[in-house]
Amino acid sequence: MAVVPGESGRPADYTLRVGDAGLPLNERLGHWLGLEWTGAIACTHCGRATRKSFAQGYCYPCFKTLAQCDTCIVKPETCHFFAGTCREPVWAEHHCFQPHVVYLANSSGLKVGITRKSQIPTRWLDQGAIQALPILEVDTRQQSGFVEMLFKERVADRTNWRAMLKGEVERLDLVAERDRLLAHLDSGLANLRERFGAEFLRLLDSSPTELEYPVHQFPGKIVSHNFDKRRDVGGTLMGIKGQYLLLDTGVINLRKFTGYEVVVT
Ligand SMILES: [Zn+2]
Repeated sequence: MAVVPGESGRPADYTLRVGDAGLPLNERLGHWLGLEWTGAIACTHCGRATRKSFAQGYCYPCFKTLAQCDTCIVKPETCHFFAGTCREPVWAEHHCFQPHVVYLANSSGLKVGITRKSQIPTRWLDQGAIQALPILEVDTRQQSGFVEMLFKERVADRTNWRAMLKGEVERLDLVAERDRLLAHLDSGLANLRERFGAEFLRLLDSSPTELEYPVHQFPGKIVSHNFDKRRDVGGTLMGIKGQYLLLDTGVINLRKFTGYEVVVT
């Protein structure tokens, strides 16, 4: 499912990838949407059929050999490029050795996160954040991991998806939160500067971004659909937030089923 931010305060615009075409989802709000998994899964990287999906969309060989499936992607501070053991050094140069941003977001409360600069604001929309604020920029993914580790002493790095989907998230003053955190983490940041050089960490003076989602009604109780348990899922589309479709019969995290061949009705 692809998402782009809405223009001037409008809700994000979602498109479901169906074969080579895109099915606009926002216009299905309030209408029936049926999804039936055929039982087939194609690896999102190599296209080969796989019986099981690994790391949300890969076949087993890709999962074991691609750098993007390595644990250092989730835990960038464990990057092992300089040990000469990167699974795909050329890929890493384009993805890990690129400017990364450390941001604060409000998805189910305050959280810290990192992303490649080019992934803003997609990353925030994927998480269902209602507000986000870039705070620091560094040159590599690993450096962003070290900075994030420091922030994690004071702030969550996960989203409580149930709270995010209930839409009961209080707005936050992200600028005040940033200033508070930077003050608390001053000595930790100074240590990192000593290690990587004064220039490695750049303070960003950004304004918070507000993000809106196409939601008519949030679910009162969260029931989740799962293609692995039941192949046909359907209901009236009440909203879309993050990577979730909110149907009146339950919610489904489409990211989890990346690569699943689905018939849409
Ligand atoms: Zn594959």
